[in-house]
Amino acid sequence: MTEEKMKNIESLTKSLLKELGEDSNREGLIKTPSRVAKTWEYLTKGYNQNVEKLINNAIFSENYDQMVVVKDIEFYSMCEHHLLPFFGHAHIAYIPNGKIIGLSKIPRILDMFSRRLQVQERMTQEVANMLNDALEPKGVAVIIEAQHMCMQMRGVEKRQSYMSTSAMLGIFRDDDKTRKEFLDIVKLRKQF
Ligand code: ZN
Repeated sequence: MTEEKMKNIESLTKSLLKELGEDSNREGLIKTPSRVAKTWEYLTKGYNQNVEKLINNAIFSENYDQMVVVKDIEFYSMCEHHLLPFFGHAHIAYIPNGKIIGLSKIPRILDMFSRRLQVQERMTQEVANMLNDALEPKGVAVIIEAQHMCMQMRGVEKRQSYMSTSAMLGIFRDDDKTRKEFLDIVKLRKQF
């Protein structure tokens, strides 16, 4: 984020504090605008990441043709409707078709899409589409389960509820057995 943008966010935050009836010069708040600007810079850094750069050099030719699953990937994002956090876990799978991706890249792809203003439905689809485009696999599956602070702290105040979204592409959409295998793996409890 440019210095000018950071300064603008600082002054917007100062105005916000004032509109909330606060004294932005009191001790506890004096540095809040600059902290908020830095926080937003961090929480939206996904906008500035480049997909090609992210996955570059991490795609390998391989004949492995069984399901690859990465489970319980933690993520944090901001809901674009309320600017409040939503966070949870993603389970991501694909079946290679000649190409595999370095495992550490999968959480990074998720981070790239979660570190921006989001809705969970779109984020789920974006992660699936990106892997599908990059790997041209036999199929991709993404399940995201998240708690939304806009639901838990305000409005209906349902603290225990979470939202689940999924995107199934290729063989995961077309073949019941493949989809079930993935869902069974996701349901397995952690063994370690
Ligand atoms: Zn929301």
